[in-house]
Amino acid sequence: IDPHTIHVSPWTVDLDAITTGNLASFMLESPGVTGNLDKKLFIDANAPTTNYLTGADIIEQTQRLSHLLKTKYGVRENDVVCLWLFNSIYLPLLHYAVLGLGAIVSPANVGYLPNELNHQLTVSQTKIIISEASLVAKAKEATDLSETNVAHIISYDEIMEGLATTTTQQPPLYISLEQAKIKHAYYCFSSGTSGAAKGVITTHYNIASNIIQTKIVTASIYYSDSLFGAVLPMSHIFGLQTFIYSCPYLGNSTIIFRQFNLELVLQKTSELKINFFHIVPPIAVLFAKSPLVDQYPDVKKYIKQFICGAAPLSKTLANAVSSRIGCRIQQAYGLTETSPMTHFFSYDVDAYDLSGVGWLVPGVEARLVDEHGEHVHTFDTPGELVMRGPNIMKGYLRNPQATREAFTDDTFEWFKTGDVAVIKPDGQYQIVDRFKELIKSKGHQVAPAELEAILLTHPDIADAAVTGFNVPDEGTELPRAFIVLKSGAGTGNAANDALAVKQWFDTRVARHKQLWGGIVMLPEVPKSPSGKILRRMLRDRKNDFAHG
Ligand code: ATP
Ligand code: MG
Repeated sequence: IDPHTIHVSPWTVDLDAITTGNLASFMLESPGVTGNLDKKLFIDANAPTTNYLTGADIIEQTQRLSHLLKTKYGVRENDVVCLWLFNSIYLPLLHYAVLGLGAIVSPANVGYLPNELNHQLTVSQTKIIISEASLVAKAKEATDLSETNVAHIISYDEIMEGLATTTTQQPPLYISLEQAKIKHAYYCFSSGTSGAAKGVITTHYNIASNIIQTKIVTASIYYSDSLFGAVLPMSHIFGLQTFIYSCPYLGNSTIIFRQFNLELVLQKTSELKINFFHIVPPIAVLFAKSPLVDQYPDVKKYIKQFICGAAPLSKTLANAVSSRIGCRIQQAYGLTETSPMTHFFSYDVDAYDLSGVGWLVPGVEARLVDEHGEHVHTFDTPGELVMRGPNIMKGYLRNPQATREAFTDDTFEWFKTGDVAVIKPDGQYQIVDRFKELIKSKGHQVAPAELEAILLTHPDIADAAVTGFNVPDEGTELPRAFIVLKSGAGTGNAANDALAVKQWFDTRVARHKQLWGGIVMLPEVPKSPSGKILRRMLRDRKNDFAHG
């Protein structure tokens, strides 16, 4: 690898061999589904013996759902259907059924407030909402906030009742490969970490490419007896791509949790012998630190592998999880805009370094550039990660300016991630942090993620976040920590406890990384459901009393 050329993946993929048409057909005809007609592919964590779907069920019920959506609710090609639902075994089928009609899925986060849902409905011009029964009133509120295109709000329960009496099957609409490359499949929304969530235009081909890319890089990692636990929300691209697509495509069984709940996950892991979890850093923190874990000793026997993505995971935290649970943990990296996975680890190319996110997935090319768009010339030098490949989005929905800014030029090919990364001589990447969140402290750039990782090694600290505290008079930002103490930890005197942490911390870092902005005690660190620390919410808190 030469650091100042375009970087490529150590794996190869024949892009011409990705012959997807309609993503729904791609799934229903996939080897994982057609080769497992009797195998339970989707299993409800709460009723594993009675509530499950085999490969045959998936094929049949998806097409019955398509028929129901078309005839009873009038879903037509290019209509946008917003799915505002918790995880369930039928949720993947709803995705396939909508796409099967040539319509577009816009999955929404169940934690949204009405104004946040309204933003998504407006930007996506949603026509139909399929909503959790308990969220129908809130969905109605969202549509009432401003004028939207929404014609129907249908409850999930009503769909399930309809499905039970529908016998006709509607096969997926034929889409050619050329059409699949431009036809919109998804309007997923980014996590809204840096501002308002952006609607991302993802084609049928984008997702199919990422499934094939996943298949190639996971070949030595997903075993035929892998039993996955789906605890991430399928409304976010990470859970969506993994559980709705890759797992069934590869013929693996997935235990589906309605949403993440540590105790239930520990209980079901012991009972069902779940051995593989995709997680986000807040879940890693729980596996490393929660006392609950010790109450379920079998968990350590069964869990073999965690794959963590969505936000920075430090080597120390990764090591803490793997030594406590006695399993492997590795990172993946990606964005909503990249469908999502662009980096993955490997056991074939040994020496995977836990502090990194692994190598480029096949078919993705990357460059690291400085603020002038010039190649960064050496290894270990931070630069903005810019990529192109078959899984890169078409653009942001109804936001031409953001789309233009997200690509290097008007060929709309090279996508700027906004993340700072470094590349190692063996081609592995490390993600430093988001470009916009680097703290400009005393003439240096400090990555909040690095300081958060150090804070988390403190025995009394349950969780932590770091932001830059702006001091305009001095023309600088100062690193400020927000910490949550473990219950029972500390002296009860916040000022003394904060000072003790500050003294402990400041001996471990260079001067410009010390907590000059002080420490704020918090009951909880604000995080998005997709696993990101919402540092912007902390920066917006103007009246905090910081110690130290
Ligand atoms: P928004 O774009 O609305 O601000 P977001 O960027 O958080 O929100 P997502 O698309 O869900 O929305 O997340 C992509 C981002 O997540 C990446 O740009 C990166 O900052 C972060 N990320 C993902 N995986 C990793 C990882 N393994 N290590 C570090 N950061 C990661
Ligand atoms: Mg983003």
